[in-house]
Amino acid sequence: MKKLFCSIFGHHFSVSKKVTSHIKEYSCLHCGKQVTTDVSGNLSTLTPELREINRTLEHIYQKRHASHSHPQHQVA
Ligand SMILES: [Zn+2]
Repeated sequence: MKKLFCSIFGHHFSVSKKVTSHIKEYSCLHCGKQVTTDVSGNLSTLTPELREINRTLEHIYQKRHASHSHPQHQVA
């Protein structure tokens, strides 16, 4: 029934993980489907490959921002 709900009303994605300022992972509150922002800014199903890419991006992102003591809000 939960998946039927999603197929009728669409998934209700909530951010599950912030990877970078532009890329986030989401999971559906109703069925648990996981998606992520891909490099072109669209939502893609979170595959093990994309999850791996996100871990790499997250690592690079945190490294790059580690020296900033005052996190600044970036306008996309
Ligand atoms: Zn769903």
